[in-house]
Amino acid sequence: MTKLTSIWKPRYFDIGLNVTDSMFLGKYYGSSSLTPKHGSHIQSVTERAVLFNVKNMLITSSSIEDSKKHLLLCDDKHYHTTVGVHPCSVAQEFYIQKEIQPTEEDEDQCRYTDDLISGYQSKLSELSEIAHEGYSKGYIKAYGEIGLDYDRLHYSSKVQQIAMFKAQLNLFDSLGLDLPYFLHMRAACDDFIDIIKPYVEKGLRGVVHSFTGTEDELNKLLSLGFMVGINGCSLRTDENIEVASKIPISKLMIETDAPYCEIRKNNPAGKKYLTNYPNKFYPQFDEKIQQELDELKQAVETYTAQDTRPKKQRNGGITFSTHLPLPIVKSSNVQPYDEIAQSLIKDNSTSIFRSPDGPFYAPIISSRNEPVFVGQIAQIMSSLHGLQEDKEIEDFVDTVYKNTCDFFKIDQIE
Ligand SMILES: [Zn+2]
Repeated sequence: MTKLTSIWKPRYFDIGLNVTDSMFLGKYYGSSSLTPKHGSHIQSVTERAVLFNVKNMLITSSSIEDSKKHLLLCDDKHYHTTVGVHPCSVAQEFYIQKEIQPTEEDEDQCRYTDDLISGYQSKLSELSEIAHEGYSKGYIKAYGEIGLDYDRLHYSSKVQQIAMFKAQLNLFDSLGLDLPYFLHMRAACDDFIDIIKPYVEKGLRGVVHSFTGTEDELNKLLSLGFMVGINGCSLRTDENIEVASKIPISKLMIETDAPYCEIRKNNPAGKKYLTNYPNKFYPQFDEKIQQELDELKQAVETYTAQDTRPKKQRNGGITFSTHLPLPIVKSSNVQPYDEIAQSLIKDNSTSIFRSPDGPFYAPIISSRNEPVFVGQIAQIMSSLHGLQEDKEIEDFVDTVYKNTCDFFKIDQIE
């Protein structure tokens, strides 16, 4: 008798994705050039995530403009979004600019006064209109990101953050829509809890994402019933790891916060839990995809062998990660990869993996996080909970996926 092989595959929900960030459009921080380094990678990054079993992605909004813009992406069944203004953006959105701008020496000084602009009420009305529209279309699945961030007071002062956290809680509470909250809390736990507690007592449900706090803070949030979102930033130090291991599986959500918060190469705390592809979290591709990938690897090898430039000028070249069999380049070196991708399209334009929107069309850019990596967060968290047997890991991944879908009231995708 032949043994039945398991057909289980992971399913992931990345609850934090900034997919319209300029990095996915080729513009990187610190680059003086105004010309983007590459075209839009959004489609390819999405396809790649879906190929690796990321079934749902929550595109988080940080401003009114984001909240509007993101609605346009959500007719894709893998995408959902939020409405709200991030604590770091409230100054720019709602407050009057200082006449004299702080010099570079006072870099922790906010560039805005604590006086509201005259049109702030109409901006709040705009948020409520977007919420109604996005909710009725089934695109908006949470209010947020709202909250407090005392690590970055140069963007918005405490006064501004507290006032607009309260204003948005009041506004959204008054709308009567059945939506949970996507919350941002950094180095501000006591104020955060003081402000939000009355709403929790009235029934507010929320997830505190990108959690980096202490065990004491974690316990305070858990006692109010909050879910906790973990990404690469939450797993950088041994203390982080220790705290993350205390999050009950029933309260855990996973996220990338891409293009930020990657699991850094030089992060031994989190990285030591990752194993090479293929594994439970990144199962072996089927043959057809594997073949495509092998051809891509071959084309890269041929290109590299023919590259006569001195090693220094190749700028790292094109490498393949051991954790995932995907090409990685530096943002300054996308062009050679593009040439290879183009040549493969010409060879066989019928292959979906070589089409401009295919999952291998754009390379991974080093230091730019993307949703395909959310399985690595699952792997680390699973290890931190001491899970080793296949069945335990399957239950863990399934539970986190199911709980997240239930929380946002989204049907699970098979
Ligand atoms: Zn955030």
